[in-house]
Amino acid sequence: MANILVVDDSRTSRRILKDLLEKNGHVVVGEAVNGQDGYDSYNKLNPDIVTMDITMPEVDGIESLRLIKKVDPNAKVIMITAAGQKEKMMEALKYGASDFISKPFNEDVVLDTIKKLCR
Ligand SMILES: [Mg+2]
Repeated sequence: MANILVVDDSRTSRRILKDLLEKNGHVVVGEAVNGQDGYDSYNKLNPDIVTMDITMPEVDGIESLRLIKKVDPNAKVIMITAAGQKEKMMEALKYGASDFISKPFNEDVVLDTIKKLCR
């Protein structure tokens, strides 16, 4: 069981992910709608794991990841990717992303990825 912060500008994506996680015993401690909101929520909620969408308005997921890792180098941030984001993925790796999950979500992949990070 992990306390998870879900950061995504898409309400539908947040809902799908939240339902999937809570159905499997995890706790979604907060939701954020862009990178700035995600950063602020991280500092406020101190979650075990963050799921971070890459493409978001204002402050994107890469910048949010960078900010979070600056205040907490041990932060576990899973990037949510869409097709054709290889360059963004490389950038996220550089800033210390823990792992990647691609949309549309596959339940087993999501749960395995989180389980790996909980060890
Ligand atoms: Mg998005």
